[in-house]
Amino acid sequence: MTPRIVIIGAGMAGLSCARTLLAAGTAPLILDKGRGIGGRMATRRIVLDGAAASFDHGAQYVTARAPDFARFLAGLPDAAAVWADGAAHPRHVGLPGMSGLPRAMAQGLEVRRGVEVTALRPVAGGWQVTAGAERITCARVVLTAPAPQLAALLGADHPLAAPLAGVSMAPCLTLMAAFPADAPRPFVSRTAAPHPLAWIAQDSTKPGRAAHVTSWVAQAGPAWSAAHLEQDGVAIAARLLPVLCEVIGTDPAAALHAATHRWRYAQVTAPLGQPFLRDAKRSLYLGGDWCLGPRVEAAWQSGRAIARDILEGGDAG
Ligand SMILES: Cc1cc2nc3c(=O)[nH]c(=O)nc-3n(C[C@H](O)[C@H](O)[C@H](O)COP(=O)(O)OP(=O)(O)OC[C@H]3O[C@@H](n4cnc5c(N)ncnc54)[C@H](O)[C@@H]3O)c2cc1C
Repeated sequence: MTPRIVIIGAGMAGLSCARTLLAAGTAPLILDKGRGIGGRMATRRIVLDGAAASFDHGAQYVTARAPDFARFLAGLPDAAAVWADGAAHPRHVGLPGMSGLPRAMAQGLEVRRGVEVTALRPVAGGWQVTAGAERITCARVVLTAPAPQLAALLGADHPLAAPLAGVSMAPCLTLMAAFPADAPRPFVSRTAAPHPLAWIAQDSTKPGRAAHVTSWVAQAGPAWSAAHLEQDGVAIAARLLPVLCEVIGTDPAAALHAATHRWRYAQVTAPLGQPFLRDAKRSLYLGGDWCLGPRVEAAWQSGRAIARDILEGGDAG
């Protein structure tokens, strides 16, 4: 059956939009180029000494500033828990990893993974979405990729390209390192500026994580990340592991595992300032965290606002 609404992106914005539509009786189709669900709410799983370990290499935790987002989190008690790391505001983490939260949201939704949308074309009554050799025709498209990727998809001549051009996002190089369980546990998390590493956290102190190793996630700051963005992962790990070890007081030789992830568009540095963009016909919507700010909550708000606008316009299908 031809879907009425196609959502591109199964991150927090796309899932929030989809869940709001589904609650109103409209089932969208979600396409994501990634292997997993959750976009930047991501968890990397590895096997060490025959047992599983994991790293939240994207978003570290979620905070709720608005009561409606706090209520939303409270409604997923099996998928999120508070990380008691001493922070002033509760830090909610997904279970058993950050990706557990979006995966719970995806229950009951049609999500097709490993499907990269490469072109969009207006056709009578809506849009033709190109994904590989496949063409999907639908009435509405909701795009939730990071703003710079959307700009590339829409093309410079599109009327929504101009507001998109004002949005900027910074990269983040992330180190994932594991040590034996008896390695020092000097702190749970910290920000250290000026320092190559902007965030260091012992992931294994989050609730529901494996305890047979200590796993650390360290994020390089935006300037360091931008300067080293095109280096290969092995070279980045070789540079960042000693920096992490110096901070946590561990010998780099004790590392059981060290790998990196490159987030080209990690953090919104200049948001749009409104929850979404749309065309005059309410048939093309653009949203994501880049609309309101560099936080999971902002992505959730953007996706929900898009769904509400579609439903207000009627004919959601
Ligand atoms: C290293 C890092 C640390 C962070 N830490 C925190 C934190 O501690 N707290 C916090 O609140 N926020 C944090 N964030 C930000 C948070 O992760 C984001 O704000 C939020 O997850 C964005 O959700 P989104 O749905 O807008 O975008 P995304 O999660 O990026 O989702 C977009 C989706 O679109 C898909 N996509 C893109 N292009 C295409 C295409 N052409 N075809 C098909 N699919 C496509 C992608 O695969 C992706 O799944 C962090 C981000 C990073 C990278």
